[in-house]
Amino acid sequence: MALMNILVYPDAPLTEVALPIVKFGPELKKLAEDMLETMDAGNGVGLAGPQVGLRQQIFVLCEPDGEPMCLINPEIVEMDGKAYGEEGCLSLPELYAPVPRATRIRVRAQDVEGNPLDFEAHDFLARIIQHEYDHLQGKLFPDRLDAMTRESLLDEWAEIRPRILAEA
Ligand SMILES: [Zn+2]
Repeated sequence: MALMNILVYPDAPLTEVALPIVKFGPELKKLAEDMLETMDAGNGVGLAGPQVGLRQQIFVLCEPDGEPMCLINPEIVEMDGKAYGEEGCLSLPELYAPVPRATRIRVRAQDVEGNPLDFEAHDFLARIIQHEYDHLQGKLFPDRLDAMTRESLLDEWAEIRPRILAEA
């Protein structure tokens, strides 16, 4: 296993739409393991392909019960409810804001071996999945906020970013 470098906003491909994964096999498994290890090392609860420089539809996350999960080519096919919850992002370190998300979603995806998945997620798990899914659309959590809050967060980020890059 190996730690990967985590990109920070607005490095490419963070703001680009990721492409479907077509090749399943040991390399993809190794990638998912490396991403999980990188997520843990950064004390994150989720990490998406574009954050490690891959324009691919993959993300990993840690379920609220501690189980790791890897979703490939995910789609959110149903969404209900709305709640605000504090979010941060490994690609926007030290930045936090309450973000509105659906409280129930239904997800279709593939697991790391290519098997089809179809399940419902609620509350915190639904929030993580929506955050990571957004990464695959080139969106980060400030994009989910009203224009004024987004602007002020990105101003804050412009001040934090040089120090974060210097520390990396
Ligand atoms: Zn994120």
